[in-house]
Amino acid sequence: MPFLGVLSMFEDTYKQRGLRGKLVRKLRQKGIRNEAVLEAIGRVPRHVFFDDALLIHAYEDKAFPIGEGQTISQPYTVAFQTELLEVQPGDKVLEVGTGSGYQACILLELKAKVYTIEYNRVLYERTRAFLPLLGYSPHFFCGDGSKGLPVRAPYDKIIVTAGAPIVPEALMQQLADGGVLVVPVGGRDKQKMIRIRRKKDKITREEFDFFSFVPLLGEKGWK
Ligand code: SAH
Repeated sequence: MPFLGVLSMFEDTYKQRGLRGKLVRKLRQKGIRNEAVLEAIGRVPRHVFFDDALLIHAYEDKAFPIGEGQTISQPYTVAFQTELLEVQPGDKVLEVGTGSGYQACILLELKAKVYTIEYNRVLYERTRAFLPLLGYSPHFFCGDGSKGLPVRAPYDKIIVTAGAPIVPEALMQQLADGGVLVVPVGGRDKQKMIRIRRKKDKITREEFDFFSFVPLLGEKGWK
């Protein structure tokens, strides 16, 4: 009975909801203030992104491998970056680095229209098949997001979930007036979180904490 198999795999038990509540409290303690972001993290079942062997780690505030040498970001990182993005319901959001799709689910919970682009074809295929089974359906693209996604530009918000060597110029150009870009920029192992805001032709830049992302690949990323 494959259907029942799928149901049990996606089961969201009392215990898992409890662990998720605990994670939300931890993120609040660590300084996340945006209630909509915390509620979104409280709603998305993170455990279904984990292999059985790693299931016990699903609600720890840690990054984990998802295959293909990539990771599902640490919940605090997801929360911090999403908070900086100032997502409003109805915003058109581009995510660079689909990965597991967890961040895309958070953006959808915030009622954004989500366009997500992944460079690695295996991950793209896997996540495009998997997320709709959870009830999450962003617009999936496979390609080099270091150049943005010009066919659907402009975007109200752009979030880059891999570490970039510089702020990719194309992403600034694809921001709508009043738009916000959040991107970790720096070395291969450690990056500073940067927020860029575009008002008409005026660009402002703010810098936040250091984080550790997998490298952004592609033309404007790491070779
Ligand atoms: N947002 C993801 C975290 C993904 S880790 C999540 O919630 O799970 C970063 C992802 O960026 C990896 O899947 C990697 O393959 C992808 N990536 C790296 N360079 C990229 C590029 N130039 N364009 C699109 N995706 C890229």
